Amino acid sequence: MTRKKKSLVCGAGGFIGSHLVKKLKQDGFWVRGVDLKYPEFSKTAADDFVTGDLRDLSTCLKITDIDFDEIYQLAADMGGAGFVFTGNHDAEIMHNSAMINLNMLDTCIKMKAKKIFYSSSACIYPEYNQLDPDNPKCSENSAYPAAPDSEYGWEKLFSERLYKTYHRNYGLQIRIARFHNIFGEEGTWKGGREKAPAALCRKVAESPDNGTIEVWGDGRQTRSFLYIDDCLEGIRKLMDSSYSEPVNIGSAEMVSINRLAEMIMQKADKNLKIKHIDGPLGVRGRNSDNTLIRNTLNWEPSIPLDYGLKKTYKWIETQIKQWN
Ligand code: NAD
Repeated sequence: MTRKKKSLVCGAGGFIGSHLVKKLKQDGFWVRGVDLKYPEFSKTAADDFVTGDLRDLSTCLKITDIDFDEIYQLAADMGGAGFVFTGNHDAEIMHNSAMINLNMLDTCIKMKAKKIFYSSSACIYPEYNQLDPDNPKCSENSAYPAAPDSEYGWEKLFSERLYKTYHRNYGLQIRIARFHNIFGEEGTWKGGREKAPAALCRKVAESPDNGTIEVWGDGRQTRSFLYIDDCLEGIRKLMDSSYSEPVNIGSAEMVSINRLAEMIMQKADKNLKIKHIDGPLGVRGRNSDNTLIRNTLNWEPSIPLDYGLKKTYKWIETQIKQWN
């Protein structure tokens, strides 16, 4: 009989982590999840779920008491622009996420772990390449000279480098993905940590048919948004590959935030007015460059934004009805 592969998912109570647990179960893994909290919107699919604080080294050592074939490190103190770009949470973001990564890597060496996946971010890319909303540059080799526009991005870049040192000095197998705005069902949609697609779905769903929604900035800033199913596919393909340098996992379907809002209104069958207000914005333009992922994994994300928005809007609409 073949042995069931075992995986550990750190951050398994979060948006991507809870979906990843489901995906790993479908792929035949025995899965242990760990997080400060259980998933908010559905029961965890993990075989074993540990609630614990990964800033505490003893927690990291405790959860790795068995041999894992694969470790996925997604735990981080994070949120959307309203959390990351105000500057009010910079110390927590840097301290908490760096501690988690320092501890998990130390643990990997102590426990002789084989392979670890690290979720970095498009926020590591330098601001100077993302000033033109129509022509941002986010190829993997454009990360240096480094100039991320947030402390969140600096921590991710520091941690990427940290993982690479453990690979170089201790031979730990690493895989690093730079995620670009992942969205989908069961993602945070209120409370201050939500990201643009979920926040706009909520605003549109809560607005009366002839109402107005608020959009931060002039709405001409651009981004691409990746639906969760493509993100999971990318994570698994990267983990199965032998590539140990950072790779973008993102959509190349760039839209302005005004266009994103219009697409969501179409899902709701509402024609709302947009009021532009001041708010934390981040870079002027960003899009995933998928040349490297195409060349290394012979794959790239392909689910249309429209499809993901349809699913996400429906889910948020249902959540709002349940809450009212
Ligand atoms: P999330 O906030 O939903 O999940 C992160 C999880 O980490 C949370 O459940 C949180 O409780 C947990 N966590 C935080 N501190 C912890 C601690 N000290 N001990 C144990 N658990 C702790 O975020 P997500 O959207 O699922 O993102 C997952 C990863 O991907 C993060 O590292 C994030 O920085 C990265 N990422 C996400 C996106 C995106 O668009 N969602 C984009 C780029 C990078």
